[in-house]
Order: sequence, then C-alpha cells, then structure tokens
Amino acid sequence: MGVAIVTGASRGIGAAIARRLAAAGHDIIVNCASSVDKAEVVAAECREMGVNALAMQWDVSDHTACEQALAEIKEKMGVPFILVNNAGITRDGLMVRMKEAQFDEVININLKGAFNMLQLCGAMMMRAKTGRIINITSISGMAGNAGQINYCAAKAGLIGMTKTAAKELGARGITVNAVAPGWIDTDMTAGLSDAIKDGAKKQIPLGRFGKPEEIASAVAFLASDEASFISGQTLVVDGGMI
Ligand code: NAP
Repeated sequence: MGVAIVTGASRGIGAAIARRLAAAGHDIIVNCASSVDKAEVVAAECREMGVNALAMQWDVSDHTACEQALAEIKEKMGVPFILVNNAGITRDGLMVRMKEAQFDEVININLKGAFNMLQLCGAMMMRAKTGRIINITSISGMAGNAGQINYCAAKAGLIGMTKTAAKELGARGITVNAVAPGWIDTDMTAGLSDAIKDGAKKQIPLGRFGKPEEIASAVAFLASDEASFISGQTLVVDGGMI
C-alpha cells in the first residue's frame, strides 16, 4: 500500500474516493481549494480506518503551488503511489454568451490543474518505477452537453491526456486511466432545477443519479492489483446513459 493523493477531496466524489482508498489501506492526501475544515474531517475519517492522512490546501491550477505541495508530501509521507485528479468546477453557459473568464477558469482548473499534477507526480513515479494515475473526466467530455462548452472541452482534453500519459509512462510500470461519471449526487449537481434533474433521470436507464461511492469503487478498482494490465482506458460509470 502506498500514498494516494486525491485532489478536490473535501467533498463529493473526491471525499468518497479518499475514504475508499483509505479503506483499501492507502495513506491519503486530502486536497482542497478552500474548504480546509471539510478536508480535515475527511482526513480524520481516513485516519479512523488506521491509515495516515493529511488535509492540504492548494490550488491545482497553480503550478508552483503543486510543486510545493508535492515536495511537502514527499518529505512527510513519501513518494505517491496513486494520483487521482478529481478537482473540478463548472461555470455553465451557452457558447455564444459565455465570458472569456468562464472558459479560462474551467480550463485552468479542470484541464491544466490535472496536467500540473500529472507532470509533477508522473516524474516522481517514473523515478520510483511504479504508480497509478486516475483522471476523473465526465460523460460530457465524450457526448457533449449544451451549456457546458468549457467543461466538455476540458473533460475531452483530459481523455486525450490520459491516453498520452499512458503511452509515455507505461515503460516505467505506471498505469494511467480515466473514470467518466454520469450524473452523480454532489454539490455540483445539487443546485440544478428539478426540471433539469427529472429530464436527466429520464435519460438514465437505471433511473437515478449515481452516488459518489459508486465512482469511488471504479477508482479503487483501477488503483488495485486487479487492474495491473489496464492503461489508457476511460471507464464510463453512468447508469447506462451513454
Ligand atoms: P464538488 O462536490 O463540487 O467538489 C469539488 C471539489 O474540487 C472540492 O473538493 C473543491 O474544493 C475542489 N476544487 C475545486 N477547485 C479546486 C482547485 N482549484 N484546486 C483544488 N481543489 C479544487 O464536485 P464533484 O461533483 O464531487 O466532482 C468531482 C469531479 O467529478 C470533478 O472533476 C467533476 O467534474 C467530476 N464529475 C462530476 C459529476 C457529477 O455529476 N457530480 C459528473 C461527472 C464528472 P473546495 O471544497 O475547497 O472548494
């Protein structure tokens, strides 16, 4: 078992992934952007499972901040074995009305943030000749979604990045995969109107939104020995929607 970094793990899908990887025996870094109190609670829950866990605040879109965080993690916990690029935001709007800042913010956090961590953590894993990287993309990046051109571009980019990193890092024993959730019950979807939620549910064969734990199970599988020969793949977890 090794050290697992989960970005955006203070709530939602990231928090469920942190708990699931802790249950599998990994030490956990619980990253957040600002809600340090919530990240501390998740880290405490992980420690209750008998592993070491640390809550750490940094902005994944800031390359220097990522570099500093990784140096601190290496010193305090050791070289990471698992990286889960989960941090993400939405700034929805129709394409013709979208502000430049709305586009840039989503690309900077959802795509460049994942690149920052992938590049820096990938270099450490290459020296260690082992590692598991899992990027949380979205079915929106595969199927498109009106009102989310920024988010869909970032999530589609993440799939290309996953395939490329799998090819570059494979020779060092590192696997790189993506998980593409469909609609999941978290803060990200909580603010949507009932009309939008009901419309979405009609398109999901299983007839309901997924739970964060159902994404965490897929991540835990890809991080496990059971998935040792799977790399460059995107595992869709969407209740059958796409
Ligand atoms: P969420 O509940 O809104 O949580 C987002 C997490 O990302 C929080 O922990 C937040 O930290 C963190 N974060 C945001 N900006 C960050 C930054 N710049 N640096 C570091 N951390 C940052 O989201 P979620 O629904 O769990 O989504 C998690 C991932 O799954 C995202 O990549 C999302 O795109 C993807 N996804 C979600 C759904 C869905 O239906 N929910 C579907 C498909 C894909 P703070 O708490 O400090 O703000």
